[in-house]
Amino acid sequence: MYRELRGVDVVSTHVVIIGAGYAGAGAAKRLLFKNPNLQVTVVNPRTEFVERIRLHQLAVGNREATLPLADALHPKAQLVVGTVTAIDAPEQEVRLANGRTLRYDHLVYAVGSTSRVDHIAGAREHAFPIAEYESASALRTHLAALPAGAPIVVVGGGLTGIETAAELGEQQPGSPVTLISSGPVGDDLTEKARTRIRRVLTSHGVDIVEGATVTRIDTTKIELADGRVLGAECAVIATASGVPALARDSGLPTDAHGRLLVDATLECPEYPGIVGAGDATAIAGGALRMSCQAATPLGAHAADTILRRLDGKAPKPVRPRFVGRAISLGRRDGVIQRTDFLDSPVGTVVGGRVAAMLKEQICVATVSWGVNPRRPVLFTWTR
Ligand SMILES: Cc1cc2nc3c(=O)[nH]c(=O)nc-3n(C[C@H](O)[C@H](O)[C@H](O)COP(=O)(O)OP(=O)(O)OC[C@H]3O[C@@H](n4cnc5c(N)ncnc54)[C@H](O)[C@@H]3O)c2cc1C
Repeated sequence: MYRELRGVDVVSTHVVIIGAGYAGAGAAKRLLFKNPNLQVTVVNPRTEFVERIRLHQLAVGNREATLPLADALHPKAQLVVGTVTAIDAPEQEVRLANGRTLRYDHLVYAVGSTSRVDHIAGAREHAFPIAEYESASALRTHLAALPAGAPIVVVGGGLTGIETAAELGEQQPGSPVTLISSGPVGDDLTEKARTRIRRVLTSHGVDIVEGATVTRIDTTKIELADGRVLGAECAVIATASGVPALARDSGLPTDAHGRLLVDATLECPEYPGIVGAGDATAIAGGALRMSCQAATPLGAHAADTILRRLDGKAPKPVRPRFVGRAISLGRRDGVIQRTDFLDSPVGTVVGGRVAAMLKEQICVATVSWGVNPRRPVLFTWTR
């Protein structure tokens, strides 16, 4: 089980981080900024950092969404390109798909989230989940070859679906775009923000269908639960996210969605050498909205928890401090919805070009401050 690390020479301490997204790359940066003597290994399936918050831009072709991990990871972190297939918590080892095994003193579980497609028949074969780099890249190729006027459908009326539909409406003006939502579009925003979003989507030519459930997708059409059939030569999935099954399959405690269950310090109570951060983690009693806004400070906090353990101190609980939701509506419009620290929307809404500019600055800052290893961590949720 967990080895008492007080008094252990930190030079020999090995931290393995699974996943080089916002949480994992941020954790590596924080650890090595504060203790350059640590041995930090980051396991990730590719040599690029994926800016997931720009995948809708990647899909329509107005922006790339990767940068080399050679630039995005702290230079003292060792990158192992591969996929972890099992975590052996009692033995403090992770196994990789290529057969390699890595031993760790501390493990950061930061594997992020995935698209869920199995709830819609035909989605796996015929639709393009926007939440993953490979499928967003495939969507870009598909869109480039799509004949003018071919109908496009976006499934999912949350923030990702809204951003994707707006981007498509703006960038593919020749093709009719329909946004399908089981509930009201943007239903966790204020009425003011929702009204603005609907107006901008409509101005981009996006047709909004609410209260509809997609049951089947094929190459030319989608079917709704109420019997309606809509033409769709391109179907984009932007519904609720799932998470990799790694924690559950490894016998670690998870919530009903398969997220690693951690306490308020981000430690896994059964195995305190394991800390979790980002989308793939649920804090017992109050899972946070999956977001880059949470993943970045959670990554830093996971690092702080490890560093405090190494110093022989008790780790601190994380204190969420959400500030708002920034939604792009194409390149020239947007909505910023202010929230309280616990992520509940409150009155203020900013729209138009100012919101678009703010959103772009936020996207830039997530990399230039959250990830860039040459700059210290800008903000944390540790107090
Ligand atoms: C189109 C779009 C727009 C978005 N816009 C916003 C926004 O405006 N604001 C916001 O706050 N959030 C936004 N999000 C959500 C945000 O992108 C995620 O919440 C964020 O990426 C989570 O960060 P993470 O570090 O937990 O995971 P990720 O960024 O997903 O990184 C996880 C990493 O782990 C790797 N990995 C997975 N499994 C393994 C394994 N077994 N072994 C090794 N490596 C593994 C993955 O390949 C990946 O590199 C958006 C998402 C999408 C798709």
